[in-house]
Amino acid sequence: MPGTLTSIDGLPDSVTITPLTLRDDAYAALCLPCGGGGQFAPIQTYRGEWARPDAYMAARLHAERHARDTEAVLNSELWHRQAESLGWSQAQADTMHWAERGHLHYDGTVYYQMDPDDPRAKGRTVSRARVTALITAGLLECDGRYVTPTQDGHAASRAWVAARPDPARTESAHLRPLLGGEEEARRRRHETAPAAPSHAAPGDGPAEQLTLFATKLRPRQPRPRRPRGTPATPPPGPVLFTVASGHAIPEG
Ligand SMILES: [Zn+2]
Repeated sequence: MPGTLTSIDGLPDSVTITPLTLRDDAYAALCLPCGGGGQFAPIQTYRGEWARPDAYMAARLHAERHARDTEAVLNSELWHRQAESLGWSQAQADTMHWAERGHLHYDGTVYYQMDPDDPRAKGRTVSRARVTALITAGLLECDGRYVTPTQDGHAASRAWVAARPDPARTESAHLRPLLGGEEEARRRRHETAPAAPSHAAPGDGPAEQLTLFATKLRPRQPRPRRPRGTPATPPPGPVLFTVASGHAIPEG
């Protein structure tokens, strides 16, 4: 195994290729994470005239697979689309932020933002409509005193922070669930009509990617419990977003 490896254009530092012979007719694609992080492990070797481009392509595909499994994916176009689709106001984004930090609480009557400097004091009240919209979209869940992000909510927040879309000027009470997320899947299952042919056939590019990715992000979790006074069913008329077509389709 070569001691020093130089990074190669188009590849992250953790994945590279190296010649195996002086004649340049054999190459290996190598990966650091697959070597346990301490050394590069060969993932594939190629021989012959096209050894170098073949190894390069293999390394690229391999690196992309890793990227999908890690935070690197935050920079991808997918996450920008994800963030844009959320349609949060700044106040809704702030509410998600406080929930992420464990500072969004519920006392059985009102939601409030805990003051981290004085945990015993009750901080600023947060609009019930705002929290309810986020809960209904499957982004927050209320469990007793704590209002915390669901797995969808965590993913949505990360997309929002990474992509920094312009916040909506008018706050909507009917927020879109996470694209390809758990709540979206739940709503699909609950749609009674067996009609509504999907534009995205299973195995079709971006939609499938989104689904796969969302699945990877989410370990199994119990369904969120809903606080008192929250509608058990989503409000009428949410808009579903079909990724493959890019068109918003009014539900119904
Ligand atoms: Zn690897």
